Amino acid sequence: MQLPQDSPKHQGQRMQLVNLLKEKGISDPAVIDALAFVPRHWFMDAGLAAHAYKNKAYPIAAEQTISHPYTVAFQSELIAIKPGDKVLEIGTGSGYQTAILRAMNAQIFTIERQRELFKKTQRLFEQLGLRPKKYLLGDGYLGLPDDAPFDAILVTAGAPFVPKALLSQLKIGGRLVIPIGNDPQIMHRFTRTGEKTFDKETFGEFRFVPMLKDKS
Ligand code: SAH
Repeated sequence: MQLPQDSPKHQGQRMQLVNLLKEKGISDPAVIDALAFVPRHWFMDAGLAAHAYKNKAYPIAAEQTISHPYTVAFQSELIAIKPGDKVLEIGTGSGYQTAILRAMNAQIFTIERQRELFKKTQRLFEQLGLRPKKYLLGDGYLGLPDDAPFDAILVTAGAPFVPKALLSQLKIGGRLVIPIGNDPQIMHRFTRTGEKTFDKETFGEFRFVPMLKDKS
């Protein structure tokens, strides 16, 4: 199947966005390269493509949103992954964050609970030849016990509390990055320091759609 277009105009707008994100403090070269590489407009509805390189969230399907580029960049930095790391993403949504993590050469396991969105993004992944290790319709609160442990787990929806299952599926040294609370959420990073011990850090306010239980 034919790839969607990525014109010089889109590339120019993308570089401007990357420069803006650098000004806002994004500095990890692997994250910057991935943001410069992945066409964000491929993950948005054609009618919104003209806005793809603004630092804004936009509707995708099923009342969900593609995250702000800054939020995607910030979370991608916080999980601090190396090439080959096993990463679990909760909330595949448009697949944009998934594509950024793939571009950083991580092995991606990703879960979406919304059936309509799951199918839409599945078609896009096929069209782009973007193959996560696993892409599942399911409830991210449960994580993926059969594939655990993970080097990093990234939650891209606002959680009311820290799901215990996700903490238990981290390797020692692994990181869980998760926005917690009600509108707005506080970005948290938990690092597993031992069998039963975790470090907790917080990184300010963000706004996400809610993390909901069960498949829709
Ligand atoms: N990373 C995505 C973010 C989409 S918004 C992007 O940038 O496009 C958050 C997504 O999390 C939504 O698609 C929502 O349906 C999904 N979600 C919410 N609760 C979930 C859960 N318990 N398990 C899996 N996905 C969930």
